[in-house]
Amino acid sequence: MADDCLFCAIASGAIPADVVLDDDDVIAFRDIAPQAPVHLLIIPKHHHRNICAVVAADHALAGRLMRTATDLAIELGVSESGFRIVVNTGPDGGQSVDHAHLHLLGQRQLRWPPG
Ligand code: AMP
Repeated sequence: MADDCLFCAIASGAIPADVVLDDDDVIAFRDIAPQAPVHLLIIPKHHHRNICAVVAADHALAGRLMRTATDLAIELGVSESGFRIVVNTGPDGGQSVDHAHLHLLGQRQLRWPPG
């Protein structure tokens, strides 16, 4: 757990969140400012600052994050209508929380390219 990390605090339960999945390694919760009717964040419980750090440290965990996101897309009923998995990384990527996370967005028509 990293000091002053919002998502570490959510993963530990110190800060409340609308959690939809919680297992040994991964937690998923609803984004506080949803950009679509389905907008979840899927994060590793262990602190990694971004997706590059996850992949460098633990290939299997990177796969688990993607697997969890797609499982949740199926569970929430958007796998056929369509969804988007987004991994904002670094300043140009628009990452605002420096703890690796996947966004799962769905249940509306998403535009391309993103802003
Ligand atoms: P990013 O900009 O890709 O780093 O995404 C960070 C996301 O975290 C944003 O979509 C925020 O709305 C979301 N967020 C920030 N604080 C919270 C919180 N306390 N609970 C849930 N989501 C949050």
